[in-house]
Amino acid sequence: MNVTHLECAKCAERYEPDQIHQLCTVCGKPLLVRYNLGQASAELKRHDLPARVPTLWRYREVLPVVHAENRLSLGEGWTPLTRVSNLGARLGLENLFVKDESLNATGSFKARGLCLAVSMAKELGVRKLAIPSAGNAAGALAAYAARAGMEAHIFMPRDTPLANRLECEMTGAHVTLIDGLITDCGAEVARRKDSERWFDVSTLKEPYRIEGKKTMGYELAEQFEWELPDGPTRLTRPTRRSRKNAQLHIRPGDLVDRGDERRDAQIGHALVPIACLDELVKRGDHRLLEP
Ligand SMILES: [Zn+2]
Repeated sequence: MNVTHLECAKCAERYEPDQIHQLCTVCGKPLLVRYNLGQASAELKRHDLPARVPTLWRYREVLPVVHAENRLSLGEGWTPLTRVSNLGARLGLENLFVKDESLNATGSFKARGLCLAVSMAKELGVRKLAIPSAGNAAGALAAYAARAGMEAHIFMPRDTPLANRLECEMTGAHVTLIDGLITDCGAEVARRKDSERWFDVSTLKEPYRIEGKKTMGYELAEQFEWELPDGPTRLTRPTRRSRKNAQLHIRPGDLVDRGDERRDAQIGHALVPIACLDELVKRGDHRLLEP
């Protein structure tokens, strides 16, 4: 157990790690999981990683789930990193790589966060989960809740694509369609969650989804063999809302060993997403990638 406590991202109020928490009860901001990294680095060595399971659980020492039976897995994480030379040449980028997150268990990176959120909910004895979602997060919650034998209550705008709704229903989730936007769905979860005893796994309303997402950074560090290509390096990702970018600001150099601070810092500083890949490709404008 390398988790020391949970800590409010804004006011630094501390919380016990083995209890159910949503947001900071003092200021209402998200809670972050804090680790004893010295202890973690004593247990996890870079040279041990290649022999480990090809999922995000290969970094278990820096993830919050203590008991192995609660580490739910549908094959999430450890997605391929592919050098895309032709697209790179078109955009004028010598070293362009794509990490294919569509190969996650539920078809998107959302599997990472919901894997951790549901695993921790199981560890803490939660039985019912709820989420507002217009797509991939709902599918991921439904799949991991099914894996855990837990109830998933999903609130979707009525115009959500049919495929997303069917994915949830086929894995046994309770789906409610709302005449409105995703914010209206969130309001419905907030209104009912106490009386229904739901654990709200909305984005940044519980401490653990971000713990799953940070493994993208760990994987990039490992796949680049802890050293990035020469020159300015930037990470970009598809996003509609800039706040999602915050989820990768955890330094992968915090991961293990900590023997080479310079190299760790290099990787950590590079993981600052600055642009939307969709836009980048549409515009053919590599200036979006410049520091
Ligand atoms: Zn606070």
